[in-house]
Amino acid sequence: MTAHVINGKELVSSVREQFKQEVSELAEKGIQPGLAVVLVGDDAASAVYVRNKAKACEAAGIYSVVHRLPAETSQEELLKLISELNGDAAINGILVQLPLPKHIHEETVLDAIDVAKDVDCFHPVNVGNLMIGKKGFLPCTPAGVIEILKRMDVQISGKHAVVIGRSNIVGKPMAMLLLREHATVTVCHSKTPNMEEITRQADILIAAVGRAQMIKAKHVKPGAVVVDVGINRMESGKLAGDVDFDDVVETAGMITPVPGVVGPMTITMLLKNTIEAAKRANGLV
Ligand code: NDP
Repeated sequence: MTAHVINGKELVSSVREQFKQEVSELAEKGIQPGLAVVLVGDDAASAVYVRNKAKACEAAGIYSVVHRLPAETSQEELLKLISELNGDAAINGILVQLPLPKHIHEETVLDAIDVAKDVDCFHPVNVGNLMIGKKGFLPCTPAGVIEILKRMDVQISGKHAVVIGRSNIVGKPMAMLLLREHATVTVCHSKTPNMEEITRQADILIAAVGRAQMIKAKHVKPGAVVVDVGINRMESGKLAGDVDFDDVVETAGMITPVPGVVGPMTITMLLKNTIEAAKRANGLV
């Protein structure tokens, strides 16, 4: 069996087209959603992510501003900027690109972002809302994975979903969103013994590990849907997922290649959250 390889370009552009339409409808009401992205330091990968986010905003008609701060920026200076952005009516969403330099306490900075502008859904209030199923922002990468599954007509309800990874950014919220969609969810991590025995039971397997090509055909049930969240830079400079694509493509029923699907869909969910924040700020939802 050879898996259906998801075409990210086609999928992502159709979702973005929908949001572009929403932005133009807001423009008719005199509203333009605005996103502020804050980048501290000169991490090359972060700079690329930030550029891609700004480009996606521009293409969708969302106002975006990037604050590039030097690596030696103090925590106080960063908090001052966040406080200004919290009070800026033109800005509906604030995103602080991670990782931050070591001298800055990440949690303190993320907690300082106005809950209503926390489009990354990292603030404890938004994380709590997600946990109890209250309406609010959904974290971009896991929400993007659900969007992909739904757009590909993958049945989630009643299926066994296995998530590999339990980070606060991907693994844990991913499990929560799958649970919301009525999957039976198992989470694996670095202390899980005999992981293959568990992953081989998955109808839907989500890899969010951060280890290049770790997931092989032996981890996958024939016909399973495999979503690869991982982005790993190989020595050759090429990007690779957490899934060994060439090995797994013969076993899975459906698979997302890396790069090109989960990454762009994550950015698309950022646009979605920014539009939603603008609607809320203007009393439209
Ligand atoms: P973290 O390093 O925060 O978490 C990795 C998780 O994988 C941990 O829970 C860890 O377990 C688990 N793990 C590590 N080694 C193993 C192993 N051998 N077997 C089983 N589990 C293991 O990473 P993130 O969650 O932030 O990111 C995961 C991947 O997703 C990365 O490649 C990252 O670049 C990518 N990513 C992609 C995004 C996108 O837009 N496409 C967005 C965000 C991340 P333990 O908790 O026990 O240590």
